[in-house]
Amino acid sequence: MSGEAILGAEFSGEQTRWLEGFASGAAAVKGLAKAAPVTIALSGSPIHGPENSAGAAQDRVTAAGGKLNDQEKWKRNDNPLDAYARLKAEAEAGRFPKPDDNFRWRYHGLFYVAPAQASFMSRLRVAGGILRHWQLAALADLTESCGAGHCDITTRANVQVRDIAAAHGPAFVEGAADIGLIAKGAGADNIRNITGSATAGIDASELVDTRPHARAMNHHILNSRALYGLPRKFNIAFDGGGAIASLEETNDVGFQAVQVIDGPMAGLRYRLVLGGISGHKDLARDTGVVVGLDEAVPVADAILRVFIDSGDRTNRAKARLKYVLDAWGFEKFLTAIEENLGRKLERVAAALIAPRQARDRLAHIGVHPQKQAGLNWVGVGLPVGRLTAAQMRVLAEIARQAGDGDLRLTVWQNLLISGVPEHRLDDVKANIVAAGLDWQVSNVRAGLVACTGSRGCKFANADTKGDALAIADHLESRLTLDAPLNIHLTGCPNSCAQHYVGDIGLIGVKVTVNDEGDQVAGYDIVAGGGYGAAAKIGAPVFAGVQADEAPARIESLLRAWRDHRRDAQESFQAFTLRHEAGALQALAAGAMP
Ligand code: SF4
Repeated sequence: MSGEAILGAEFSGEQTRWLEGFASGAAAVKGLAKAAPVTIALSGSPIHGPENSAGAAQDRVTAAGGKLNDQEKWKRNDNPLDAYARLKAEAEAGRFPKPDDNFRWRYHGLFYVAPAQASFMSRLRVAGGILRHWQLAALADLTESCGAGHCDITTRANVQVRDIAAAHGPAFVEGAADIGLIAKGAGADNIRNITGSATAGIDASELVDTRPHARAMNHHILNSRALYGLPRKFNIAFDGGGAIASLEETNDVGFQAVQVIDGPMAGLRYRLVLGGISGHKDLARDTGVVVGLDEAVPVADAILRVFIDSGDRTNRAKARLKYVLDAWGFEKFLTAIEENLGRKLERVAAALIAPRQARDRLAHIGVHPQKQAGLNWVGVGLPVGRLTAAQMRVLAEIARQAGDGDLRLTVWQNLLISGVPEHRLDDVKANIVAAGLDWQVSNVRAGLVACTGSRGCKFANADTKGDALAIADHLESRLTLDAPLNIHLTGCPNSCAQHYVGDIGLIGVKVTVNDEGDQVAGYDIVAGGGYGAAAKIGAPVFAGVQADEAPARIESLLRAWRDHRRDAQESFQAFTLRHEAGALQALAAGAMP
């Protein structure tokens, strides 16, 4: 079969019938954007229901003399979950929200992103990062009917769509819900997309297939009204221990698959790690607790309820789980979880847990054999996560015709097409390239991660996505890296691109360039970060580098490593860890040709 044949193939009768059904579904989705607005009158529904543990937590704060922060007041005055009818009426009248409603609308997955863009961005949940081909194809239609015809894969392995006009906001989130992509709770003070292992169920090296647990967690959240009462956002990840890391150590709660080798808990379990928040320079730490695979959801639920009761509701900067753990210590927090669960958690000594395998840092790119004989996953490189609608349709069609129908989003801002038999690989590769993407990219581009940046986020100090691509272009024209490397660019301290766990991390800052105080976009640069067995927060190397000088500055660091590493096996991280910042600066300064 030729490369083009995948997209122009003859279909069997069954396929034709299926496609007809799909086409009518897609037409219905398209139609939603054009349908006359349906407005529901406000009913004056109660602000608080019987599940209102969050309201009780607020009452305790005020009774103790505390002052609720603005977001807590907004939630209390008009529960965002009860505000959808108003959202719909406002949006369909073409009105974007004021700050309080902008916060409330985020509970429904719509973010008004002015002044960066005068439009909504919508974030969709993709449990475990796994989509079916028809979902991606229908989403492509939605991005065109409601947005500007593209989407972004995020560092939580979910999807964001931008450039949504006010009047199209409700049509977009409802159309997405119709194809099983739920936006509810995707923003504001909620539990974000549940991350799982991208190769779950297809990876011979994995310990645990995380799909059922990520999915169960996703539906538990969606259907537990009390769990929309958090003091701040919350991240949960499942890592099955396979080739591709899910970066669970950057989450508030991480469930790491482990093999307990002896004792009453012997077998495959999840190890509980808590308190990751890399933007605050903390990675999740081992609690010493392991849970049965089917216990992860109730344990996470208990953790969330303790956080709802005890998280800070006065100071947003201190409202994350890390700060409860810092104040209480692990033992007090674990005791509170046990009281909530009504039973003891199982502690297992580290010596009884088998070491976890090293990750394959390039397993998310290119062709890799699955545990199912004769099948492969193909990792597709995406330019810092961006996909056009046309590319979405091509990838969906490849997955449908040549794969098992799944598209697996990764935390590395790319995706895998799984279940591809050997004899279809050449067709798949050719069609990926024909779509303007690639299944083989340089080590620089494979590890390139960037947050939204100034093109779409008001907090950004720099154009992270544009600068990331400029860095890749610059480095590829001057250097060939012989080892995997991660370069992460994040536009502000919120650290959505987790710059502190990159080998090289850039955080956007404004750089003053003259005595008049004029400022330009730039970066502070850290080095030596890592994840998994190499988990570490990067250390500062350069401060206030102008954005257009960042590519050369990174080149100098990489040349210093290449010229001065102990041997060809010494990683960039190991090299940087044995040098102070001043020594690295000196080596970098002397390394440029
Ligand atoms: Fe926006 Fe900051 Fe997040 Fe980047 S890190 S997307 S600039 S909030």
